[in-house]
Amino acid sequence: MGNLKFDIDDTCVKCGACAVDCPVQCITKGATQFNIGNGCIGCGDCYSICPVGAVKMSKCETDKE
Ligand code: SF4
Ligand code: SF4
Repeated sequence: MGNLKFDIDDTCVKCGACAVDCPVQCITKGATQFNIGNGCIGCGDCYSICPVGAVKMSKCETDKE
């Protein structure tokens, strides 16, 4: 029951796959990359689908990069 946090870094190539796949549609297109906003339920779909590994997963309790 880990509290997972997902973030998109600057290696995002803006393919949009994660935004399409997100079940709660909390991923939006920013100027230079896509961003995960409020409402993320931590399902991990974006993490799984990203073709370039731009979605990073971390535990909320730690700052481990
Ligand atoms: S972990 Fe799931 S809910 Fe959160 S941004 Fe990714 S696809 Fe959306
Ligand atoms: S799937 Fe990956 S590369 Fe594509 S928009 Fe999402 S974070 Fe960026």
